Amino acid sequence: MADETTTTPAIPPEAAAAKEQPAAPKLKMRKPKQRACDEKDAKGKLCAGHLKRWYDYPREIEQLVGKGAEIYRCEFCKVLYRPDPKQQPNSYTIRY
Ligand SMILES: [Zn+2]
Repeated sequence: MADETTTTPAIPPEAAAAKEQPAAPKLKMRKPKQRACDEKDAKGKLCAGHLKRWYDYPREIEQLVGKGAEIYRCEFCKVLYRPDPKQQPNSYTIRY
């Protein structure tokens, strides 16, 4: 089987990236003690972006995660992370 094609269309990275923008954002569950993003890009490189607490998320995110939910977002690839349900918060500081 020879599937060598000389006319392989070159897909520009921009187009590929645009294709990877689904309507619903990616939502993952944080592993215990996880502080860095474990997403891999197309080349298999670990993202390792810092997961930041995201407070002022838009309404579509609120519908996804629930109102007032604790949510984290990777600073690089913007993948969303839910907190690990088994991990209790270290402090009980409540901020409103
Ligand atoms: Zn990431």
